[in-house]
Amino acid sequence: MYPFTLDRPATIADAAALSAAGATVLAGGQTLLASMKLRLSNPGHLADLAGIKELSGIKREGNAIVIGAMTRHRDVATSTDVQALIPALAELAAHIGDKQVRAMGTIGGSVANNDPAACYPSALLALGATVHTTQRKIAAADFFQGMFATALNAGELITAVAFPVPKRAAYMKFNQPASRFALVGVFVAQTGDGVRVAVTGAANGVFRHKGLEEALSKSFTAQAAAAVSIDATDLNHDIHASAAYRANLISVQTQRAVAKMLG
Ligand SMILES: Cc1cc2nc3c(=O)[nH]c(=O)nc-3n(C[C@H](O)[C@H](O)[C@H](O)COP(=O)(O)OP(=O)(O)OC[C@H]3O[C@@H](n4cnc5c(N)ncnc54)[C@H](O)[C@@H]3O)c2cc1C
Repeated sequence: MYPFTLDRPATIADAAALSAAGATVLAGGQTLLASMKLRLSNPGHLADLAGIKELSGIKREGNAIVIGAMTRHRDVATSTDVQALIPALAELAAHIGDKQVRAMGTIGGSVANNDPAACYPSALLALGATVHTTQRKIAAADFFQGMFATALNAGELITAVAFPVPKRAAYMKFNQPASRFALVGVFVAQTGDGVRVAVTGAANGVFRHKGLEEALSKSFTAQAAAAVSIDATDLNHDIHASAAYRANLISVQTQRAVAKMLG
């Protein structure tokens, strides 16, 4: 690790000012600290968000659940509100990484990082969530912009994520066995705006699958999902899985999610 200075702002305004002045914000550190230890990242100035109370917590606002950026995965997994209203989201959080990662990792850090194999981005996209920042509110559809890229401006911080409560939803993740990130994860949601199917792990970034959405809008059955042919052309292939294998997983995990939703 290279030397750096560390600030611990107590308010969102102070954190935003530090960030605007060039500091890198530290959330759960599960990605950032590892990349610093490996000398892949070399920030000279860190602003630790852990002391900002209003960034943590989960509340209901109308027909939405609003989760503060510094809320840990474990706290999303065990929230009685999330379990009751969006159980698929609680389950997603309960299966991120391992106990250590869930105890420290935060929803804001995960969403800002936008790892192409992360779980939360698929939930945001499928549920039609909104990312609240220090500058504006950004629809999930506009937020994720490809591998590790988001709509955040320099100095702009995520403060919370608002999830509208769906009619039904399910997340099915096929683990990459070493890291426990998603080799392929599929989040299916029936919302007031129709059926949404968001896929993570399979490509350079999270995406919605229009073919599956159209088929499931006509007939919400596992058979309808199975009849959709999944194009492997733009999917990842690496030592863990071929593009064709990932395409098959998209189909299978969608069928499993639909079957789960139908009980
Ligand atoms: C072994 C392991 C297994 C994992 N498995 C999974 C998995 O199965 N599924 C999954 O989804 N994830 C997984 N993760 C990722 C983990 O869940 C964390 O969410 C992720 O590492 C980043 O969150 P963090 O809070 O640790 O952020 P940090 O590492 O502290 O920060 C990450 C980046 O986000 C920026 N940032 C942080 N907070 C904000 C904010 N509020 N506003 C703007 N920018 C911000 C930071 O500056 C940094 O660039 C795994 C990680 C590890 C180490």
